[in-house]
Amino acid sequence: MNFVSKNLTIFLTIFQENSEKEKAKEASLADLKSSYYCDLCEKQYLKHSEYDNHVNSYDHAHKQVSNHSLILLPSRAMPLNAKPPSR
Ligand SMILES: [Zn+2]
Repeated sequence: MNFVSKNLTIFLTIFQENSEKEKAKEASLADLKSSYYCDLCEKQYLKHSEYDNHVNSYDHAHKQVSNHSLILLPSRAMPLNAKPPSR
């Protein structure tokens, strides 16, 4: 029984060390992806002006619209306060 619990402790220690490393990796990745990163288009910009330009660009707007329509495509998805179509 001691053998098993000792092994388990070792395993948990290794597991914890690994997840610590993973967290550090994620943090550095997040650092790399600075505030000038467009999640929507998965584009990284180094300058604020470039990022600003992109956000206002057709490409970005188009992506935004197509992303939204994907969500809104189900015809029954209606805003709560929307009136039913009158016929
Ligand atoms: Zn974008």
